[in-house]
Amino acid sequence: MASNTPSAAPAADVLSDVLHRRGLMFILSSPSGAGKTTIARRLLAEDGHIAMSVSATTRPMRPGEVDGRDYHFTTRENFAAMVDAGEFLEWAHVFGHSYGTPKAQVKTGLREGQDYLFDIDWQGSQQLHQKLERDVVRVFILPPSIDELRRRLTGRGTDSAEVIAQRMERARAEISHWDGYDYVVVNYDIDICFGKVSEILAAERMRRTRQTGLIDFVRDLMGSDG
Ligand code: 5GP
Repeated sequence: MASNTPSAAPAADVLSDVLHRRGLMFILSSPSGAGKTTIARRLLAEDGHIAMSVSATTRPMRPGEVDGRDYHFTTRENFAAMVDAGEFLEWAHVFGHSYGTPKAQVKTGLREGQDYLFDIDWQGSQQLHQKLERDVVRVFILPPSIDELRRRLTGRGTDSAEVIAQRMERARAEISHWDGYDYVVVNYDIDICFGKVSEILAAERMRRTRQTGLIDFVRDLMGSDG
């Protein structure tokens, strides 16, 4: 395609920043332990155009977590008040605690072309899709096997046997919702899985309907040849 002349068109990823584009909501779901967190962290580190959507939660902060970065940690009372005030795009009870996606930041950001990464479960994914279908891209990551999933959950070493058993049960329940996603990637190898997730994101960014600057661009293109 592009020639080597000085007037050659910019590379595709540069172009997508020049033309105005509506942001997208990139949802990564998986059972706990299937690699979602590793992939999410790597996407955030390597891709300058996507930011984490920080959820609110009533669960206690874990060691190493930072309020406002990992979650907005809040009380049950305050969470309930936010639900009543319609401040969440979606919310759900998970493991006995409430989790929700605050509306304000995401709605403004999408208009400005900011992409958001969501680390939420199938309930949240379904609710976001119902509300903002055209902005949502849903990716589900599957573990290669249940044995491997158990190994990964146990290997983490931070949770009790009871919590692990609970998570295994929940993992099976989460996996049963695999068909509510646009893309499904089996994580046999974390690097290959990350590559596939990145390709999905890159392709979704180029969807015609998201590239809101195309109308003017093509109008200029058509009009500029006299
Ligand atoms: P954790 O407490 O381990 O950080 O998260 C527990 C579960 O809650 C995970 O499955 C995570 O995907 C889900 N979760 C986190 N934030 C949200 C949210 O805003 N909405 C929904 N529906 N689920 C969430």
